Amino acid sequence: MKPVAASSRIDAATRLECRICWYVYDPAEGDAVEQIPPGTAFADLPDHWRCPQCDAAREMFLPLAKD
Ligand SMILES: [Zn+2]
Repeated sequence: MKPVAASSRIDAATRLECRICWYVYDPAEGDAVEQIPPGTAFADLPDHWRCPQCDAAREMFLPLAKD
């Protein structure tokens, strides 16, 4: 896996990795900390969503290439 350049390439199944702490947001799992239900695409996260581990802003996340 390696990050891809264009953030516009993310789709409903794209996982994104935090540049600060390497937390990975997986749409299939959602985010229990922020009560994001499984199946929520990164693009559909609320604007206030931040990294549950280090509190980084959404802009700090980079998409991971598909396996
Ligand atoms: Zn983080």
